[in-house]
This record gives sequence, structure tokens and C-alpha cells, in this order.
Amino acid sequence: MFIYREVEIRKADETAAQNGLSGNALMETAGRSLFVRIKEILNKNSRILILSGRGNNGGDGIVLARYLNQWGYNVDLVFPFGEPKSDSASEHFRYYKSLGYSWSTSIGDGPYDVIIDALLGVGTRLPLNQSYQDLLKWCNQQHALKIAIDLPTGVLADRGEADIAFHADYTFSLHGFKPSTFLLPSSTYFGQPESIDFGLPHDAKWKIWSEKDVKRTMKKRGSNSHKGTFGTGLLVAGTDEMPGSAMLAGLGAMKIGIGKLVIATTPYAASIIATRLPEATYLHDGLNKLAVGTFPDGIRAMAIGPGLTDEKLIDQVLENVWEKEIPLVIDAGALGKREFAPRKAPIIITPHPGEFSRLTGLSVKEIEANRLEISSQFALQKNVIVVLKGANTVIAFPNGTGFINRTGNAALAKGGSGDTLTGMILGLICSESDITSAIANAVYLHGLCADELVKEQNERSIVAGNITNVLGRVMNRLIT
Ligand code: ADP
Ligand code: ADP
Ligand code: MG
Repeated sequence: MFIYREVEIRKADETAAQNGLSGNALMETAGRSLFVRIKEILNKNSRILILSGRGNNGGDGIVLARYLNQWGYNVDLVFPFGEPKSDSASEHFRYYKSLGYSWSTSIGDGPYDVIIDALLGVGTRLPLNQSYQDLLKWCNQQHALKIAIDLPTGVLADRGEADIAFHADYTFSLHGFKPSTFLLPSSTYFGQPESIDFGLPHDAKWKIWSEKDVKRTMKKRGSNSHKGTFGTGLLVAGTDEMPGSAMLAGLGAMKIGIGKLVIATTPYAASIIATRLPEATYLHDGLNKLAVGTFPDGIRAMAIGPGLTDEKLIDQVLENVWEKEIPLVIDAGALGKREFAPRKAPIIITPHPGEFSRLTGLSVKEIEANRLEISSQFALQKNVIVVLKGANTVIAFPNGTGFINRTGNAALAKGGSGDTLTGMILGLICSESDITSAIANAVYLHGLCADELVKEQNERSIVAGNITNVLGRVMNRLIT
């Protein structure tokens, strides 16, 4: 499942055209592929309205209308803003008319059971003029099944801004998803997004991390393995006020399969946590010890931040460990306004949008409208791996590639769920060899646990401590 920006889509089209697969042929296969998928959700008795724009999106609508006519569906093809003007769309319109199928420039008497929006696609520029706005308002008022082709009209391809837009039940995106599918507020207009592959080769920088990826990258432990195989992690977390942060993160690390876990926290926090997490070992008065340069032996990766507040101590600890060649996960209290000096081993930051706003100086709104691009740029500039949390968590790597995670739900919108994730990331980085898939799998499984929990209880009642209760169950389903 791939994600492409407008320029990438245009380039894919152009490359195909330059090498002999014309725009016209592409439009034919796209329209045909849409027909094959859409007819699965249509009823032969339905009255269908296809609204076609003047560009290529409208052209896809024309091809779709032709197939629907051919198969005996009851379709009205309407060009509310005039006849097609793009070359391929005009050609397909000529062919459509040659078959004697009907069309119009104004919408007939309703009511329609299905409205298909083929008005604007990746070529959308905002704002929409009044006549577009009025038409979209009319569409949204109809009691019809609403299907958008490529993008709901009124949303951009690459950014999340949207004012008035087609409120789709389904959006069928061609070649791959567009970033706006996962941005705010645009994502609220897509209904159920689905990607339609119509045969172009894929070379996406951005992908959705899927169940298939988890199954491919997470394997059963070897029967000869021992705790050393899965590494020792150091978790620096928790204070007297927030001892639970260290416990939640600790549970995350242990239950995802770390070999051994050392927790550096306050003596008070350690005494509380140890009763519920006796499997971990505790670095007594950990933060102070690390601040003066003590460091336990044999650590494979470290996570710092959940529940921490003392910036001076945190800075001191980070300074001491910066040169150590172990991956470093930085979360919560340790994120601060940090500059990320070059470092030999990977840095993984796990901000929520508020924390990322402090790091980047951008508003939360701007981040939400452009979370893929902004995290990608940050990853590149600072040479860090960014896990930008929230619905549609982004994992961006310094080489420009990235993943979107689609698991998880609003049950996670509660204190402590991010702490749990930090522990899970630490746990997989220690116990798996590939850091890229380790991070993505931790994020995926964290969300999947929440999806599992809402099957059993209301999202409101779920607390962060529940997440790791079902982790073993969901991993059993995926790891073979
Ligand atoms: P393509 O650019 O590949 O044809 P579209 O089907 O999205 O993709 O076509 C967009 C067409 O609509 C372009 O001709 C563009 O000039 C036009 N367009 C884009 N935004 C608007 C808008 N807000 N109002 C009216 N027309 C628009
Ligand atoms: P805390 O610091 O209290 O532990 P964070 O804000 O750091 O919490 O992390 C919250 C976690 O919950 C993140 O992993 C985030 O992706 C997830 N989350 C929160 N709300 C949602 C949502 N609506 N859908 C999916 N995931 C969510
Ligand atoms: Mg947090």
C-alpha cells in the first residue's frame, strides 16, 4: 500500500506516456479498474449520478460511465462545469458519445441512490469558487451512497487543508493513496479509503505499514535462543510523581520480548514498580547515577523520557550517553527543545503533535495538515528517526522514506499510552536485528492491541495498562 504526492503521480503518468503507454491508455485502465471495484458495491437498480470535471479526474469518470452503461446500469453522466478539456478526457468523451450514451451539463431530477465524484483530482487548487461549493453542499445533502474517485473534491493531494469538500463514503485512489488521506482535516472526507492498483510499477517513498509487513519481518524465536539473544535495554523513566510511566514503558519492553531490562528511576518509583515488574532490574537512584557518568554494562539500546521532568538532569544524562554507540529513543520529558548533534548510532524521537510543535516551532494545526512532509524534512535535516504519534502515526527516516501506521483508535487517547509505546519500541529495537521494521512493528502492534481491546470493552474504559495485556494474543496471530 503506497502513498504518492502529486508530483510523483504526474511523473508516473509522464514516464509511462514517454515510453509508449499513453495517457489515453492509462485513463482506460484506470476507469476499467474503478468499474471492476465499484460494481461490487453497486446495485443494478440504483440511479447513479457521475459528476465529471474537465480534467483527468473527469476523464476517469467518463470511462467508468461508459462501462456502467455497457453493463446496463442506470447512469447520468453530468459535466456541471462544462465539457472535458484535457486531451485524454476529450478523446474518451468522443468515444463515449460515439456509442450513443447520454450525458448532460446539468443535473437531472433526483433522487440519486449513488453519487460518484469525478470532479477534481490531484490537480485541485484551493479555494473552490462558489459554484463548486454550492454543488458540493448539494451533494452532501443527498441521501445517496457517495463515492469519490482519487480524491474527494475539495481536498488537496498533498496537504490537509479543506473547507467544503465532498463527504465520501468510499474513496478509490488511483495508483496509491495521496498524503491528504492521512492528514487533518482532509482525512475526515474520505470515508473508507481504498487504493486501486491499475498496473503502473511502484517506487513509493512512503508506504503504509501493514499486517503483511509485520508477518514478513517478525519471526518466532529460535529454539536455541537465550535472554542474551534479545538484548538488554536501559529505560530511563519515572519520577516520584509519575512512577507509572516507567512501569508502563517497562511492561511494553518486557512483553514485546526484550531479553533483559534495566530501569533507571527514583528509589521511590523503583520500590513501587518492582512489585509489579519484578522481572526488571533497577539502577538505584538511576537518573542521578547516569548524570554523574555511571552506565550499566552490556546495554544494547536505551530509551529516555517517560515521566521525567528535571531538564538539567536529563541534559546531563543525554550528554553522557551521546557518544555511546547504542540506539537512543527520546520521548516525552527528554524531548525538550533539543538540537540533535550528530551521533554514530540512531536517534529515535517519539513526539506527539504538541511535543513536535515545540521541536519544530510550527503550530499543531500546520503539523496535522502536513505531518508526512514535516516529519520527513525533520528526519532528513536532523538525521533522526521521527515517530510522530497520533491517529495515522508517521515513522519518517533520514533517507526520505517513511511509513504510516493505520492501527489504533481513540482508546489510546489517554495518559500513559505513549509511555507504553516507548517501551515497546525499546523492546523491539533490542530484540530484533532490523531497526526500521522494529520501530514500525512496535507502532503497529501498539495500535493493534487497542483495536483488540475495543472488541471487548468500551474505548472510554480502556487504560494504558491494558495495552500489554493483549499484546501476547495479537502477536500469536501474526508471528508464525
Ligand atoms: P489533472 O490536472 O490531472 O487533469 P484534475 O482532474 O484534478 O487533474 O484536474 C484539475 C483541473 O481542474 C485542472 O485543469 C485545474 O486547472 C482545474 N482546477 C483545479 N482546481 C480548481 C478549482 N478550485 N476550481 C476549478 N477548477 C479547478
Ligand atoms: P502519554 O505521554 O500520556 O503516554 P502520548 O500522547 O505520548 O501519551 O501518546 C499517545 C499514544 O496514543 C500515541 O502512540 C498515539 O499515537 C496514540 N493515540 C492517541 N490518540 C489516538 C487516536 N485517536 N488514534 C490512534 N492512536 C492514538
Ligand atoms: Mg508521551
